[in-house]
Amino acid sequence: MPLFHFVCTECQARSEILVRGGEPPVCPHCGATDLVKQASAFAPVASDPGGGLPESCRSCCSLNNGTCPNQ
Ligand SMILES: [Zn+2]
Repeated sequence: MPLFHFVCTECQARSEILVRGGEPPVCPHCGATDLVKQASAFAPVASDPGGGLPESCRSCCSLNNGTCPNQ
């Protein structure tokens, strides 16, 4: 099943969301539908200067078995 990582542009929460055909992803934290899909080769840090890197990085590391894609 297509499970993607998204970052909410409203509350900045990072979520794994199961995307079904024709249905837009919805943020489970605030209900916004304005989400940005995270690809493995994409570095969201570059477009987010000074914005809460340590905490989001920590959560992504736990999702990637300790391998941080941002470092
Ligand atoms: Zn949100």
